Amino acid sequence: MPWADIVGQEPAVAYLRSVFRRGRLAHGYLFAGPAGTGKRTAAGAFAAAFFCRVLPGEGCGACRDCSRVASGQHPDLFVADADPSEREIRKAVLDALTEAVHRSPLEGRGRVAIVPVAERMNETSANMLLKTLEEPPPATVLILTSEAPEGLPETVRSRLQRVRFGRLPAGTVARVLREKLGMGAKEAETLAAMADGSIGRAIRLAGGRFTEMRGALMDAVEGIARGDFREFARTMAGMESEVSAGAGAEEEDGAAERGEAGAGAGAGEGEGKATKTELRRRGGLLAMEILRSLYRDAAAAAAGSDRLINPDFRERAADIASRLGLDGALEAMEHVSFADFCIRRNCHVDLVCRVLGERLVRAHGYR
Ligand SMILES: [Zn+2]
Repeated sequence: MPWADIVGQEPAVAYLRSVFRRGRLAHGYLFAGPAGTGKRTAAGAFAAAFFCRVLPGEGCGACRDCSRVASGQHPDLFVADADPSEREIRKAVLDALTEAVHRSPLEGRGRVAIVPVAERMNETSANMLLKTLEEPPPATVLILTSEAPEGLPETVRSRLQRVRFGRLPAGTVARVLREKLGMGAKEAETLAAMADGSIGRAIRLAGGRFTEMRGALMDAVEGIARGDFREFARTMAGMESEVSAGAGAEEEDGAAERGEAGAGAGAGEGEGKATKTELRRRGGLLAMEILRSLYRDAAAAAAGSDRLINPDFRERAADIASRLGLDGALEAMEHVSFADFCIRRNCHVDLVCRVLGERLVRAHGYR
């Protein structure tokens, strides 16, 4: 039952199922919403519903069509899965897509093409896609997913039927982590609180030996509170191996869902192992996310709130709060956010961390 694979997006699923029931398929859809909320999974479910002959419009999840969709092997399904480490969907991928949707279907029912994280298309690629949308081949459905739909040209957006995906409640994310990943209740709760409504993000955090990293960073934050950032420097230096140990952990939000289903002609081009630099970048970003949650808890403790992201570190957060005060904790969070921004902009991770360590020590009043 492919639609049932999508968690917590009832309005979107109800709408898409009704489209099939009424036989009113549009030529193009834009699945828009935050990363890791099931857009890519929904595009796969759509394709299964489209191709399944056992339960048309629903997808039985078991027939040859459904399993070929799930494994990315359906001959009439194209997925523009560009190399996730690339910032742009290259023209070659769009060339292949254009060619695929203009060929007549191999099995007669029509074609589905999926462009995940479509805001990565550059202007040339977007224009190529626009041409296909302006003169859509018969019985072809294009699905774009995007967490930043405003990054797509208006001309493209206006030709797509928008389907909204919302952030998931923390309780739903925690339940998925427990049921699908067999995670303990406490860890699932902490991860869900940090994941900000995104299952993909929670899975990514879980993949990066999250618990060990979080413990090491808490130690480092306590070191900083004593005016010593050597512990922090050591922890950050070890981040790369922590991340590479979390097999399949992807830096980009949504990568967890992206990798799940479907490989079309566009795949296979970028399967290469992540470079050392890329691993350091991922490790740095994960560390920033954890650090922000630790200082955020210190700020909450300083403000007298007991709603913490890391409730198991309650006493330690209170101790940091007593040293930093609310202003100091907020200042520390800002330093971490800025470091995160710099890493995303491809600044050298070691350099960013060194500067961050100095700033955090200074936020504690040390010079
Ligand atoms: Zn089926």
